[in-house]
Amino acid sequence: MANTYAYIHLKNLSHNLARINAIAQGRKILPAVKANAYGHGAVEIAKHLEKQGISSLAVATLEEAMELRESGLKSDIVILGLMCPSDAAVAVKNDFCLFCSDIGYIKMLENSAKKIGQPARINLEIDTGMGRTGCMPEEAFSIAEYIDKSPYLMMYGISTHFPVSELADDDFTASQIASFYKTVELIKKRGIDTGYLHLANSGAIINYPDSLADMIRPGISLYGYVPDTSLSNKVSLKPVMELLSKVIFIKRVKKGSTISYGRRWQAPCDTLIATVGAGYADGYCRLLSGKAKVRIKDRLYPVVGTICMDQFMIDLGPASDVKLYDDVVLFGPSGPDAQDLAELIGTIPYEITCAVSSRVKRVYI
Ligand code: PLP
Repeated sequence: MANTYAYIHLKNLSHNLARINAIAQGRKILPAVKANAYGHGAVEIAKHLEKQGISSLAVATLEEAMELRESGLKSDIVILGLMCPSDAAVAVKNDFCLFCSDIGYIKMLENSAKKIGQPARINLEIDTGMGRTGCMPEEAFSIAEYIDKSPYLMMYGISTHFPVSELADDDFTASQIASFYKTVELIKKRGIDTGYLHLANSGAIINYPDSLADMIRPGISLYGYVPDTSLSNKVSLKPVMELLSKVIFIKRVKKGSTISYGRRWQAPCDTLIATVGAGYADGYCRLLSGKAKVRIKDRLYPVVGTICMDQFMIDLGPASDVKLYDDVVLFGPSGPDAQDLAELIGTIPYEITCAVSSRVKRVYI
């Protein structure tokens, strides 16, 4: 096996799903498996989730949806992203459920549906404050009416998305929730079928019980992290991914020797330097140079010098029992974890797990 690989702890995924299920209390769950399931491997994660009773999966692109379908996943597949017309026609043909934000896009899907002779499944997204995609609340009724009247369009659901749901008791999120329900109330009153109503990402699942509606859309919480550390104590989650590599070389260097590109680290004393067989091409971000620590057995060792494309160096100190080919944990459930790394470089755990590149084999355990 290659030096660098990622263990995907499926037991931890089941644990996180159980925690989310406990909050959802029987509501439908639409897990976000986009971006290769946040780096964990979409097909294997989706298969495991289906075994746990999940029957709908959210992806960002047509390619991601096709990968799941071609791998035999049976769930409803919801594409969150907007597509160009040629991709949209393929998406309709494959019976995917499609996020839509405006009437022009919906008519384009309707045309494809007419040509194919099978209705397009529509999820109407309302922009209550995310400012990304979605129709304005005041446009939603007329669009919903159009969908309702067309024999070529079927309403899968109506949704909105939150930009700051990781903040508890926040007025902005509360006003989004109120705006969403007010809008769908009007649609329901006219007898239009709304399909599933869904708002909640991980932050809202934890912070806003009134946002749970018919269905929830957890992403990062499934993979064992919260969207903000202020939520860590509210739900007990376990990181799913563990990124490992191996010590591939050890040498003794003299005080004053410099290590790696740019000569940015100088040995403060005679010391042992280990080279680890992973680098930024595996997704171990170069910005972690000189900041991160890795774990070998029970001890943490500092990353010294610039992280290279395929290797980086750690300082073992003047005396060490670390041996050639010892396992090195870059991040994982027993720490450091992706949240720790994210904090060191001013990002979020989402980016740390998504960055693990395609050359890193995922091993499902
Ligand atoms: N719903 C939508 C529309 C999203 O874009 C995302 C992720 O970005 C999610 C749900 C899941 O969010 P989270 O990973 O914060 O739970």
